[in-house]
Amino acid sequence: RTRQGDLPSEIWEKVKNHPCYSEEAHHHYARMHVAVAPACNIQCNYCNRKYDCANESRPGVVSEKLTPEQAVRKVLVVATAIPQMTVLGIAGPGDALANPAKTFKTFELVAKAAPDIKLCLSTNGLALPDHIDTIVRSRIDHVTITINAIDPEIGAKIYPWIFFSHKRYTGIDAARILTDRQLQGLEMLSERGILCKVNSVMIPHINDQHLVEVNKAVKARGAFLHNIMPLISAPEHGTVFGLNGQRGPTAQELKTLQDACEGKMNMMRHCRQCRADAVGLIGEDRSAEFSTDQIMKMG
Ligand code: SF4
Ligand code: SF4
Repeated sequence: RTRQGDLPSEIWEKVKNHPCYSEEAHHHYARMHVAVAPACNIQCNYCNRKYDCANESRPGVVSEKLTPEQAVRKVLVVATAIPQMTVLGIAGPGDALANPAKTFKTFELVAKAAPDIKLCLSTNGLALPDHIDTIVRSRIDHVTITINAIDPEIGAKIYPWIFFSHKRYTGIDAARILTDRQLQGLEMLSERGILCKVNSVMIPHINDQHLVEVNKAVKARGAFLHNIMPLISAPEHGTVFGLNGQRGPTAQELKTLQDACEGKMNMMRHCRQCRADAVGLIGEDRSAEFSTDQIMKMG
């Protein structure tokens, strides 16, 4: 578990006020997401583009998209209203790094206007190796990479296509490129001292057994926390794994897998799969209080 005793002290210092990374902090510190990143560069079988990126978020939620300028305004309003707000994340509604100009502009503006707020970024990892220097320069503290498979045969069942280097790839080729880029990005960030968490979506009969291998691979490349999240299955949200639909895991199946990985590395168990415009303590969503309309009215 993410408690002080389990982590080296230099890592604990970096995560103790981060509500996602420290189980203790999530009762006391708040985070917010700003939805500045609409596009995505891959297709996951569990995603419906009408809704937020399902790698971090609850399916079926539509966040209000913001420009970087609107986003920084919102951050300043929220930081005044909720002083425990310590972390700003960009996690969609598409992929943060498929929208690098908007994502990094937002971080730059926030770092200038509110230098105490910690910055974090979530990505599917495809574009990650191209942005390592910018991430370091932007003083981003934490990165989350969603890695659902390291075996391209399994990955091909999860990702029908990716768009990479001006080209669309499908099947095993697509999955192989994605896996290579994710693991390479993770290694590069670890080498530069950026804390990395890995998210995995547990999909029964597709990657459930395999996630133990994913756990070992990401640990070996420096991830400090693994967050295995259940697939939340609802056909209208876009779970297209087969003709008969795809169920999510039961709470017991999820716990058994988390237990199997525990001991090998820290497991996150309090993730609430927040929306791309979430505001507040984890589990307490105050996004409706801070809609774009209201923020803009506040001047
Ligand atoms: Fe959807 Fe996120 Fe996958 Fe992109 S990375 S297809 S937004 S779930
Ligand atoms: Fe934290 Fe999980 Fe919410 Fe992201 S989705 S802000 S990791 S609790």
